[in-house]
Amino acid sequence: MKPAINRPHINWSEIDTVLLDMDGTLLDLHFDWHFWMEVIPQAYADKNNLTLTTAKTLIHDKIHSQTGTLNWYCLDYWSQTLDLPIAALKRELKHQIKVHPEVITFLKRLKALNKTVVMVTNAHRDSLAVKLEVTEIGDYFDTLISAHDFGMPKEDIAIWSEIQRVSPYDPAKTLLIDDNLHALTTAKTYGIAHLLCATFVSPKLDKIDPKAFTAFERYSEIMP
Ligand SMILES: [Mg+2]
Repeated sequence: MKPAINRPHINWSEIDTVLLDMDGTLLDLHFDWHFWMEVIPQAYADKNNLTLTTAKTLIHDKIHSQTGTLNWYCLDYWSQTLDLPIAALKRELKHQIKVHPEVITFLKRLKALNKTVVMVTNAHRDSLAVKLEVTEIGDYFDTLISAHDFGMPKEDIAIWSEIQRVSPYDPAKTLLIDDNLHALTTAKTYGIAHLLCATFVSPKLDKIDPKAFTAFERYSEIMP
């Protein structure tokens, strides 16, 4: 039998800063999944005269080899490696970007409670820019941080102290919400006291297994 998932009981009075991931956590991850699993292999197959199946295998292997590194998230790296205009291709599909239900209400409540709200995403600045163009989430953040600004992903524990230089926070009074278990793990080791795993990354994809982390599916479960 699977262990029961830890459900959240958040005491908002103990939290003054909320660090939020973007893709999967606030936005439907299917956009990125579809882009990397279907759109890019098709563009690569067309450009190099390959079958779609061959292109998918090649690209899957290339992506897999960069798991957990900053390159994995780096549009410049993939533009060079695949010789494709990744950011431009992403922009063409921007109408498919979707915000999860109740995210805007959640962000408004955080602002109404005077919480400091900081986005900490592994996404590349170009990817972040496209997503801010088509959603209104950017309006609710005090600071927007791309891990690329520091040259390291959230999988590297050093990022949590680097963020202090841009947006100082008290780890004991900070909540991180993320769908990336590696990011939650480095944040925990650094000392961020409140951690939540967002498990519902998309209606079209499997839920994340949060392991031992406290988890939620819908923002209604954690609404302040
Ligand atoms: Mg994410």
